[in-house]
This record gives sequence, structure tokens and C-alpha cells, in this order.
Amino acid sequence: MFDLVLGTHNAKKLIELRELLPADKVRLTSLAEIEGALAVEETGTTFLENARLKAVEQARHLGRWVLAEDSGLSVDALEGAPGVYSARFSGPDATDERNNALLLEKLADVPAARRGAHYTCQICLSDPGGTVRLEARGECHGVIGSEEIGDNGFGYDPLFIVPELHRSFGQLGPMVKQAISHRARALRQFLPAFVALVQQGERVV
Ligand code: IMP
Repeated sequence: MFDLVLGTHNAKKLIELRELLPADKVRLTSLAEIEGALAVEETGTTFLENARLKAVEQARHLGRWVLAEDSGLSVDALEGAPGVYSARFSGPDATDERNNALLLEKLADVPAARRGAHYTCQICLSDPGGTVRLEARGECHGVIGSEEIGDNGFGYDPLFIVPELHRSFGQLGPMVKQAISHRARALRQFLPAFVALVQQGERVV
């Protein structure tokens, strides 16, 4: 059993990550369960920089293996915004509702054909000494709708439409999101390498 700290405080992300990692191989502990975990500041300007910061700083602080991820939504008509600022798009008191309202406002005059967007998920695994051991990235492409639809998921999901399915992530159940999301794609790429690393004799404690 590999003992791994998941470097996120986001409860919804945690649920998704837990479901995507094999429960029989990996024992996951969330930051919420660890006393004295660091609140790592996301000062990077790319998903990669932030994922590394969250993995490496937390791993060094705790002396444990840490898997961290940084994710967000990039909207073509907004030149990639909100990007790494997705969680804080509407300011310091941001909530999912405010972020979605601001996104709709900014895209009010943008026609359907120019509302392309994608989610990115960058994951990073740090060993207890703070050395990055594995990284993976996943994207999921879609379109921003003109109104919020559906209660599933979190964040921008009620606005993020998967064109092939004619549904927003807010309408799609967790099984579909687990199959096609940016987080699922990043983890599918990560998992074989992670298992190989452990089998090469690394102790993941
Ligand atoms: P982070 O904690 O800096 O990685 O912020 C991620 C932010 O990106 C979240 O707060 C959401 O606003 C957005 N985001 C990332 N992944 C998803 C997703 O799967 N659905 C909806 N929003 C997401």
C-alpha cells in the first residue's frame, strides 16, 4: 500500500482524485487530515509552477510523498483567462457563483462559435526530500454556455459544455466526468509511471 498525501484543500477535487486513484494500491491522506500542513501560496504564473510549488513545499514540510495538482479553465476569447487564477477570478471573496457570473458577463457579446475553452490539470509528485519525481498533464476541451445548467461537479462545470455530448459538466454524472475530464486524463497518464516507480524499489511511505 502506497501512502500518499494529496496536496489540496478543495473537497470536491479530493473526491474526484480519490475515485480516480486505485484504492487497493494507494492510501490517500488529505491535507485536512494532517495537523500543521502548510498553506502553500500559489505564486506561479503557470499550472506547472503552481503544481510544483504545492507538491514540493508541502513534501519538504511534512517529510512525506505529496501528490499535488493545479487546475483551471482557459477561455479562448479571454486569451486564456482565468487560467491559473480560476479559483480567484472574481476577487479575494470569490465563490463558484461569482466566478460563473463574471465569466458570463465577460462573454456576453461573444457568439457561440467563439466560446471555446479548455480545462487543464497539471499534477506533480514530490518525494519527501522535495524532488519532483513524476509530472503529468491533462486537458478537456469544450465550449462556454450562455447560462448555468446542472448541479453536478463544481466550479465552472454548469457552464462548461462538452460539445460531443450536448451536455454541461454540471449535467453529466461523476462517471462521465471521471472518463473524460482533465483530471482523469492527467491521472491516467500518471498512474502507470507511478506504479512503475514504486516497483523499481522506491519506498513510498
Ligand atoms: P486551484 O485550486 O488553484 O487548482 O484552482 C482550481 C480552480 O479551477 C477551481 O477552483 C475551479 O474554479 C477551476 N476548476 C478546476 N477544475 C475544475 C473542474 O473539474 N470543474 C470546474 N472547475 C474547475
